[in-house]
Amino acid sequence: MTGDYIKTGTTNVPDERGYFGDFGGRFVPETLIPALDELVIAYREAMADPEFQGRLAHLQRTYTGRPTPVTYAKRLSDHLGGAQIYLKREDLAHTGAHKINNALGQALLAQRMGKKRVVAETGAGQHGVASATASALLGLECIVYMGSVDMARQQPNVFRMKLLGATCVPVESGSKTLKDAINEAIRDWVTNVETTFYLLGSALGPHPYPMMVRDFQSVIGIEAREQIVQEAGRLPDVCIACVGGGSNAIGLFHAFREDEYVELIGVEAGGHGISGGEHAARFADPNIGRIGVLQGTKSFVMQNADGQIVNTHSISAGLDYASVGPEHAYLRQSERAYYTYATDDEALNALQTLSKLEGIIPALESSHAVAEAIKRAPTMPKDTHRAHQPLRAR
Ligand SMILES: *Cc1c(COP(=O)(O)O)cnc(C)c1O
Repeated sequence: MTGDYIKTGTTNVPDERGYFGDFGGRFVPETLIPALDELVIAYREAMADPEFQGRLAHLQRTYTGRPTPVTYAKRLSDHLGGAQIYLKREDLAHTGAHKINNALGQALLAQRMGKKRVVAETGAGQHGVASATASALLGLECIVYMGSVDMARQQPNVFRMKLLGATCVPVESGSKTLKDAINEAIRDWVTNVETTFYLLGSALGPHPYPMMVRDFQSVIGIEAREQIVQEAGRLPDVCIACVGGGSNAIGLFHAFREDEYVELIGVEAGGHGISGGEHAARFADPNIGRIGVLQGTKSFVMQNADGQIVNTHSISAGLDYASVGPEHAYLRQSERAYYTYATDDEALNALQTLSKLEGIIPALESSHAVAEAIKRAPTMPKDTHRAHQPLRAR
């Protein structure tokens, strides 16, 4: 791999105002607009600076452990008897997930902007750990807001953040989970905007965050595209990723966006099933998943008839959020990507199947994507060379 992980200017979204078609934008208090403007400029300058790019690429290689491999899941593929399945191994990145890609990029940007204090939100604690890690590496003060309910059920990650020198602040408002932690992190940022950088964890929030997070995560797809060609001799027919806020999915999809015969599939958390409303499948349930604004961005939001955010449910904390990144809403509307869901039970079964057949224990989040692969693979030929016709909506 060369150091040139991040390509900008090769995509037409978002526009100048931060919109991906109808979605995205900047729905924030007036006091944050100058800070977002400053961030847009600093980000553009950083991305155009070979030194910044080189530093990030060097850390990706020597600290994060990139490139992460693509692993051929032969026993799983044979077991399913259809499509050949390859896994992009973000579980092998430092701290155990893709979150470090984004945390490192944003922390480098914070340092470049002269901000010595970083605030972050976390649900399950994975983004908190990644932010604390990147902050420790770069000598930044790190404050992580976390719902007190989440702190109680994710003790090991709270412990890790403390070890890494971060301050984990319990949030007692609302449902005391991720959405409330984001509110608190934004409140802190508004108050301390001169000295503080908000290190947002997924492809969400006001512009430029969805774009910035996508770009920092696009290393996943850039590597995967090269690696699959090396391993399989051609591009994949289908790319599947789970979608919480949507950062790992958009990071994978981005490199394939112009390969129009590569089908892109996002998998949301189907929880206990769609009909009972206990899920986090923002796209799958038109009764409660509708266009709305949450935490700075316009996208699909799970809400009741009055526009109140409804409680979500998923077995996996990382997918358990009421909104979804605006670029996914755009990719869905423009039919470049399709979205489906896997239930808790399907994800658990997928986790067990992959563990037993491949010796790889996936995260519960990723297990949702594995579940979709398990459903689809048997319906596909062993070597799918799809006739090159444009994809159609189903
Ligand atoms: C946090 C997390 C997710 C959900 O976040 P996205 O922004 O949707 O990627 C998914 N998978 C894993 C392994 C995670 O840690």
